[in-house]
Amino acid sequence: MEKFTIKQFNEQYATDDVCLETIFKHRYGQVSRCPSCHTRTKFHRVTDRKCYACQSCGYQLHPLADTIFHKSETPLKSWFYAIYLFANSKNGVSAKELQRQLGVTYKTAWRMAKQIRLLFKQSNYPLSKTVEMDDTYVGGVARGKRGRGATGKSIVLGAVQRQGRIAASVVGNLSAETVRPFIEQHIKPGTALMTDEFKTYRKTRKGYPHRTVNHSSGTYVRGMVHTNTIEGFWSQLKRSLSGTYHAVSPKYLQHYVNEFAYRYSKRHALSSLFFPMLAQAVRPV
Ligand SMILES: [Zn+2]
Repeated sequence: MEKFTIKQFNEQYATDDVCLETIFKHRYGQVSRCPSCHTRTKFHRVTDRKCYACQSCGYQLHPLADTIFHKSETPLKSWFYAIYLFANSKNGVSAKELQRQLGVTYKTAWRMAKQIRLLFKQSNYPLSKTVEMDDTYVGGVARGKRGRGATGKSIVLGAVQRQGRIAASVVGNLSAETVRPFIEQHIKPGTALMTDEFKTYRKTRKGYPHRTVNHSSGTYVRGMVHTNTIEGFWSQLKRSLSGTYHAVSPKYLQHYVNEFAYRYSKRHALSSLFFPMLAQAVRPV
């Protein structure tokens, strides 16, 4: 991935005004016709306000309306920098770290992080070719029952296309009624599906050529048949969750899963994740 250095970042987004201008351009493009008076016109920045006005009728456009920046008193430059930190991190950014780097209160930092996590949105394009599917348990008490059925933990179900992107959802259980819709939503019919021998996967494979590895008998790889790719993602997810975020409430777990799934899916991206995240940030949430 091409580096987007902090020096480049600071040069490009030196002031709040530049950040606002960036959001305006991303959101509205080159506005040439006023949506209100319909004349060919120009929009100019209203002094000391975070909006732009049509120079013929005065109609105002508010580029921050309904975005994650809406009604925030934190300077836009700090927001951009926070997004920059998330975009360049491998293991996530804690609220404590944001607080320290931005000089905001912990509460503000926590809220910003929560909003920024909404930017980790992936396309819905279905997974295909060869897909590994698996589930894992995260959170809860550190020393408990291991494996499926562990108490106090949340279940994450995931599917990864080898060499491609990952889809992962926090689910309430691993019944066929839960797993089958996940498969249908994320995986193209006819895709070769690799799982372990867990019985639900046997029940839900209709329409997907299915191969299993028998983990309980100590088999982990049968040629092309393995789930090592998704297991690698689970370890990374758990390392980051415990290392950076410590305790994540089940209520917000999906957002954290989205964060790491997004990073994983874009691991081969040619430029910094800052740019796709910014493109998402100018959209209403
Ligand atoms: Zn106008």
